[in-house]
Amino acid sequence: MLIVLLGPPGAGKGTQAERLVKQFHLSYIATGDILRAAIKSGTALGQEARGYMERGQLVPDEIVVGIVRERLSDPDCAGGAILDGFPRTVAQANSLDRVLGDMGKKLDRVIYIEVEEEELVTRLTGRRVCRDCAANYHIKFNPPKVRNVCDQCGGELYQREDDSLSTVQERLQVYREQTAPLIDYYRGQGIIVVIDGNREIDEIYAEISAALETGSA
Ligand code: ADP
Ligand code: ADP
Ligand code: ZN
Repeated sequence: MLIVLLGPPGAGKGTQAERLVKQFHLSYIATGDILRAAIKSGTALGQEARGYMERGQLVPDEIVVGIVRERLSDPDCAGGAILDGFPRTVAQANSLDRVLGDMGKKLDRVIYIEVEEEELVTRLTGRRVCRDCAANYHIKFNPPKVRNVCDQCGGELYQREDDSLSTVQERLQVYREQTAPLIDYYRGQGIIVVIDGNREIDEIYAEISAALETGSA
């Protein structure tokens, strides 16, 4: 099963993905996590991506398409994967269709999580992320059991630099202009499922997992 999680920054893609990969035994491909790991380890890729990410802009399509192409051919992805944060432009979606076509595969479902803008700002500015395993928390809506400590691995939680208010606003604009057109793109392919993301994490999860189990779009 190959799934794309689509939605604005802060919609809850990472939060839902964390649960979905466990239940459905899927590999997890989050381009944002991969890019942040590259920055942390100081690779050439990280150096190239850093400036775009700090400004809240998209990293060039060639770079992210290359990352995803490589990752999809890893053996652990043969049994299925969840793509989170990719594609983010129509050009990336076209490239993904080609890459999958070459592998004799195709997307099964695109889960679009819809959330109001005001709520997104509150979610992003209160987000905390684990330095070690990238698990997501929220200071009010999804706090860790112990302050600033990851429930999953005991790692330290931090606030992403691009979760500051001004960068969040830039990212939301980038989303509206460059990523939102993907909704119609995947509607055209008949594989999109629209999920109301303005609800409790568990309620949203129940609806997504039911949609994946019945296989109806
Ligand atoms: P995305 O991956 O789409 O950017 P995240 O999963 O990181 O979004 O969620 C953004 C922030 O909102 C995190 O702090 C997360 O804990 C919180 N969050 C996720 N889902 C919900 C929800 N349904 N209600 C309230 N807060 C949520
Ligand atoms: P979000 O919480 O907005 O879903 P991500 O962790 O997915 O954040 O992405 C963080 C940043 O990484 C983006 O603002 C962008 O600079 C870069 N990035 C991640 N995925 C992509 C992509 N598919 N195309 C271009 N840039 C990307
Ligand atoms: Zn952790």
